[in-house]
Amino acid sequence: MTLRNWEDVRGDTVLDADVVIIGTGPGGAAAGRVLAEAGARVVMLEEGPARPMFRPNLAHTQRYHMQESGTMVARGRQFVPVAAGRGVGGGSLVNSAICFRTPPSVLEGWKPVLGGDDRFAPARLAPVFDEIEALIGVGVTRDEVAGENNRILVRGAAALGLPGGLIRRNAPGCVGCGICNYGCPSGGKASVDRNLIPMAIAAGAIVQGDVKVDQIHHAGGAVAAVSGLVSHTETGELRGRLTVRAPRVVLAAGGIGTPRLLHHAGLSARLGPAVGRGLHLHPGSALLGECDHPVTMWRGATQGAWFEHPDLPGVLPHTFNAPPDTLVLLLGNVGLAAKADLQRLPNLCGCVVMISDHGEGRVGSTSDGRADISYAFDPHDVDRIKAGMVETARVLLAGGARRVTAPVHEIGWHDSPESLGKGLANKAITDFALYASHPMATCRMGADPATSVIGPTGEAHGLRGLFLADSSIFPTSLGVNPQLTTMVLATAIARELASH
Ligand SMILES: Cc1cc2nc3c(=O)[nH]c(=O)nc-3n(C[C@H](O)[C@H](O)[C@H](O)COP(=O)(O)OP(=O)(O)OC[C@H]3O[C@@H](n4cnc5c(N)ncnc54)[C@H](O)[C@@H]3O)c2cc1C
Ligand code: SF4
Repeated sequence: MTLRNWEDVRGDTVLDADVVIIGTGPGGAAAGRVLAEAGARVVMLEEGPARPMFRPNLAHTQRYHMQESGTMVARGRQFVPVAAGRGVGGGSLVNSAICFRTPPSVLEGWKPVLGGDDRFAPARLAPVFDEIEALIGVGVTRDEVAGENNRILVRGAAALGLPGGLIRRNAPGCVGCGICNYGCPSGGKASVDRNLIPMAIAAGAIVQGDVKVDQIHHAGGAVAAVSGLVSHTETGELRGRLTVRAPRVVLAAGGIGTPRLLHHAGLSARLGPAVGRGLHLHPGSALLGECDHPVTMWRGATQGAWFEHPDLPGVLPHTFNAPPDTLVLLLGNVGLAAKADLQRLPNLCGCVVMISDHGEGRVGSTSDGRADISYAFDPHDVDRIKAGMVETARVLLAGGARRVTAPVHEIGWHDSPESLGKGLANKAITDFALYASHPMATCRMGADPATSVIGPTGEAHGLRGLFLADSSIFPTSLGVNPQLTTMVLATAIARELASH
């Protein structure tokens, strides 16, 4: 059995491998597949459970499938909750399955940062996108599972002549139950535990869940081993320390997890000042629309439609859904007003407004190994969120909503985009309820060790044999939901690594 959990480790244990991979999200899974299929002896280590423990319940999901139990927050003038998935499959277990390709303009912008290296140019990556999309079943959301919430945005964008429509997702068997963020109960979502990881295992990889890596050992300027504590999924009871000796380490613990571990393991001084710096979050807020007809926004593909506005580059509105209890919180009323809200819940539709951010933050580590995250909003980003909300209001109103509101302090309801715009004009970022689930760019790829942690091959500037292959390596903010880009970059890096 090569998918192992805490039960398979009794006491301190040592394994030998050609490559050890830390983290089994989109990045780690993609790297593991390539390296195992190339014939390397691969061991993949994952802090969370080996097998999904899904239940449609927020507390349960946070306990088992969110890093740091869903408590991560970026501090600054406004706090931003930061979500990242946990378990074999990482963020793909709890994400909404949206799959955008990296915009060509973003990839072209990376070439100068990489010292002229063009291995990530759009034309060179196109076949890798084709390959990964085929492996994870990417296709346009089917109309029969889209649900009214998504259809409202599609109708509104079409009525206004804006680009957009139903989103491409890796959910070929989706039945539209709307609870992707608690894990897919039907198996309709093709999270990486259902494709890339089984492929790695079939090629001989060992995948070990329930092990939190806390040390990366090196000697003579090169990595030598990693080790971590294995504990019982439920009780936390310690089973022993697992050490994997390997001349190559692929670190893929995610946009927060990778710098958190490098700091905690005492490697940040060696790897340079860029470790943990330059955090981008794709922060955003949301709009709710009230319709005269039933929407039941919690039914249908979780986030199945999008649009963009030509005047707002880097602003990407896409639908979201939320269960009734979360909707009541977003509306923010108490007493009789909350009672009235309960009656309107079935008629609400929703859309998040996510931006490719210019603001930046930093990820450190506390003494007990938790993430210490700070983030400073760029004032233009606040204006772009507001402008995106106004255009989203226009689309929701054109698609069937009668009026709109937002999780913004005392914003109230508005029946026109102009009226919402006036209401937002004097609001500060501290008035907004914000959210981010795309932490990235915290251990950047680049040619200059002063501003990047790894070079274009994925190998660390400061430590031979240490490769990074996850969402932490983007040289910039991405502008689109990152899982597909993460898998493609990790595939390219692992393929080069396997060729040496
Ligand atoms: C609720 C939610 C919805 C999202 N929706 C979408 C979407 O629809 N489309 C999209 O493109 N993106 C979406 N994302 C973002 C996407 O899931 C992430 O960008 C992606 O998973 C990043 O992949 P990764 O490999 O970099 O890291 P992760 O997926 O975060 O994987 C890192 C893994 O490493 C493990 N790990 C961390 N530290 C250690 C350690 N010390 N030892 C061992 N293991 C460790 C973690 O438990 C985790 O499993 C969403 C994210 C969330 C949370
Ligand atoms: S909407 Fe439901 S069936 Fe579809 S991918 Fe999400 S959880 Fe799975």
